[in-house]
Amino acid sequence: MTMPIDETAAGPARQSNFVRDIVIADIASGKNGGRVHTRFPPEPNGYLHLGHAKSICLNFGLAQEFNGKFNLRFDDTNPTKEEVEYVDSIIEDVHWMGGDWEDRLFYASDYFDQLYLWAVQLIQAGKAYVCDLNAEQLRETRGSLTEPGKESPYRNRSIAENLDLFERMKAGEFPDGSRTLRSKVDMASANLNMRDPVMYRILHADHHRTGSKWCIYPMYDYTHGQCDSIEGITHSICTLEFEDHRPLYDWYIQSLGIFAPQQIEFDRLNLTYTLLSKRKLLKLVQDGVVDGWDDPRMPTLSGVRRRGFTPEALRTFCSRIGVSKTNGINELGLLEHAVREDLNKRVARVMAVLRPLKVVIDNYPDEQVEMMEAVNNPEDATAGTRQVPFSKVLYIEQDDFREDPPKNYYRLSPGREVRLRYGYLVTCTSVVKNEAGEVVEVHCTYDPATRGGNTPDGRKVKSTIHWVSARHAIEAELRLYENLFLTEDPNDSSRGQDWTENINPKSLEVLQGAKLEPSLGSAKAGDKFQFERMGYFCVDRDSTPERAVFNRTLGLRDTWAKIEKNQSGKAAK
Ligand code: ATP
Ligand code: MG
Repeated sequence: MTMPIDETAAGPARQSNFVRDIVIADIASGKNGGRVHTRFPPEPNGYLHLGHAKSICLNFGLAQEFNGKFNLRFDDTNPTKEEVEYVDSIIEDVHWMGGDWEDRLFYASDYFDQLYLWAVQLIQAGKAYVCDLNAEQLRETRGSLTEPGKESPYRNRSIAENLDLFERMKAGEFPDGSRTLRSKVDMASANLNMRDPVMYRILHADHHRTGSKWCIYPMYDYTHGQCDSIEGITHSICTLEFEDHRPLYDWYIQSLGIFAPQQIEFDRLNLTYTLLSKRKLLKLVQDGVVDGWDDPRMPTLSGVRRRGFTPEALRTFCSRIGVSKTNGINELGLLEHAVREDLNKRVARVMAVLRPLKVVIDNYPDEQVEMMEAVNNPEDATAGTRQVPFSKVLYIEQDDFREDPPKNYYRLSPGREVRLRYGYLVTCTSVVKNEAGEVVEVHCTYDPATRGGNTPDGRKVKSTIHWVSARHAIEAELRLYENLFLTEDPNDSSRGQDWTENINPKSLEVLQGAKLEPSLGSAKAGDKFQFERMGYFCVDRDSTPERAVFNRTLGLRDTWAKIEKNQSGKAAK
């Protein structure tokens, strides 16, 4: 009964940005024969998060807009931190975001043989050498931002000796960490990345794809640029922290004389109240702070998907924030605004009572059931209507009744008449209390002339509330979420605290015994709804026919929409 959500539709209207401008200029000048070929290069050491969505939108968006190609490539150079579970989740998530790599799914490990041959080529050219310094010695001789590094005593080994040692490194003769292959660039370079960086390290570890074939593994910096080159990537788009690595990538490409992709750096996504670091997200999972990588509080794509966010909303958000050359921070509220906007247009509105209070309509026939017509989505004329059963005993929200109503409270209270949405007008006549003095049941009378909530005599009621028929209700568990972090910057340490101390201990509230209208009985995992007046909800994957479980995606209050409205209002004046 929800509107089907098209998860693969093309992204929102293109927005101009400096990366796109470069691509347009390159096409105009005929560079690379006018070809556009981008890629998304995740390391399979965790699940994708919202920051990756920005990168996918940018890379795939450019390929799509300019009839280019888009590759998915796993940069899997670190066997100790990488797992097949991550590969599988990343494939699913890139697809979900709408990224289409056709038949071009690659792995850096596909190129290990080629990378090895290129390393031999660099040794033969006198541009790489085997170094016997250990990790600590490497660090000590690297120098600093203000001091040049020291040349390794092994820097001037003969080519023949280097070839022999590298071959034996590959053959497994040496223990982990005892030697490295280093490029011979410049130990006095102002750029630390150029100070004879390591190309290969010895690591006797099995790889998720190459098994035990290798006991030497290429470093990311030696791998990434050449992989792009092999795949003919024209625009190698990455985040700003790689700017200082670009001269090294170019050095390898030039030294090998192979196709040169153009690297362009853009700003990483940062969001308020949100951590986007795989290392820290992994810690949240390992420490059991959340229930796995796809916990709906996680900023992972699998987490926000389970929470009920849509790829369309993520693409709209990414388009709105654009890309730039300086890192900044975006408001979580802006993302939530895009999600609400999308769900508001597309998902059905239904009635559900989160915290039920029983209402008995004394003058309604005991066994009577009437089917009331309810509008599925006033924002979408094609969404139609449905039938909702009305009967003598109903549930309403506890919050929609007050025995002693404060000023400006217009919902149900003794003697007051309210409209039950799509139902009837009812007037509260009495209450039943338990021993503790709490109201456990509200008695009302209804006006049969007000079927559908209409008032033929034109009389006004100030409040319309939602309800669910008790004998038809589906009982559900509802999971309500708040931000996972209490501080706008989760890394805030201004009070001397560690980032883990900024975790919100109340980020999850579980409500049992919520009452849903019966049309929700056929809802399947992932289906999305607006519970009238209560927020956006979606069916969790834990939901079973015996036990319905819903996640609250977001509440209805959209502070960002207000800000936008005020600003456009001001601009109009
Ligand atoms: P993390 O810091 O979360 O571990 P990463 O950069 O190590 O992320 P990769 O798997 O290497 O993760 O990232 C794949 C691609 O996604 C890279 O091109 C990277 O630049 C990009 N990316 C990662 N994080 C962000 C982000 N926050 N905003 C935009 N792009 C990102
Ligand atoms: Mg990385």
